[in-house]
Amino acid sequence: MNPIPPHTVPTEADVIVVGAGLAGLVATWELLYADKRVLLVDQEGAASIGGQAWWSFGGLFLVDSPEQRRLGVHDSIELARQDWFASAGFDRAEDYWPTLWADAYLDFASGEKRAWLHGLGIRFFPVIGRAERGGYTALEHGNSVPRFHIVRGTGPALLTPFVTRVRQAVQTGQVTALHRRTCSPVSPHTSTDACWPSPSGPAPN
Ligand SMILES: Cc1cc2nc3c(=O)[nH]c(=O)nc-3n(C[C@H](O)[C@H](O)[C@H](O)COP(=O)(O)OP(=O)(O)OC[C@H]3O[C@@H](n4cnc5c(N)ncnc54)[C@H](O)[C@@H]3O)c2cc1C
Repeated sequence: MNPIPPHTVPTEADVIVVGAGLAGLVATWELLYADKRVLLVDQEGAASIGGQAWWSFGGLFLVDSPEQRRLGVHDSIELARQDWFASAGFDRAEDYWPTLWADAYLDFASGEKRAWLHGLGIRFFPVIGRAERGGYTALEHGNSVPRFHIVRGTGPALLTPFVTRVRQAVQTGQVTALHRRTCSPVSPHTSTDACWPSPSGPAPN
């Protein structure tokens, strides 16, 4: 399989984002606010933008939310941390970064996450689910209280603000979207030469 010939790929970008799923779209969204030019590469065609999140239920992890309080669910960052760490069982040297990530995400989920999403137009059903339900105490595996906040409109509605912003940036040239390109593992030296036509071949974007 041949790499994409360099002359067919724009090389002027500050950042290459591999994957136009929710993670790649949110990363691109953040980069746009930092005024960066982005090359967004995905192995699938343009119709598959959003990846798994498009098919998802849009259930989001929030801690001590207004929805929980309205339903009489008593939650806190301490309880959520206890649940998370009881499930994860972080006890190895290589768990250092996952532990820091878990703490950062707990701060986010009990802090700015809901307001940030609300500001993007995302709303929640008033009923909260209990996915990843564990035992019924905080010392067993899983969530000891309901935390699965379902986005109105499910996965596609969760994607909408990010897809909309990224598509606008494609129009203005701040983002270049390359579809049906499969990238090899990323290193600090990754360039578009590391992205190859997907087995089914490049499709028109
Ligand atoms: C049916 C379903 C329901 C779900 N419901 C929920 C839910 O309610 N709540 C919840 O929290 N989670 C849910 N999930 C899980 C959640 O949707 C995913 O964890 C999340 O969307 C993953 O996002 P991502 O961007 O990390 O990965 P992905 O969505 O998998 O995106 C990765 C992208 O990268 C591209 N890619 C991968 N490798 C390469 C490569 N080498 N080169 C180029 N491109 C590449 C892929 O084509 C893809 O577009 C659900 C998932 C499914 C399938």
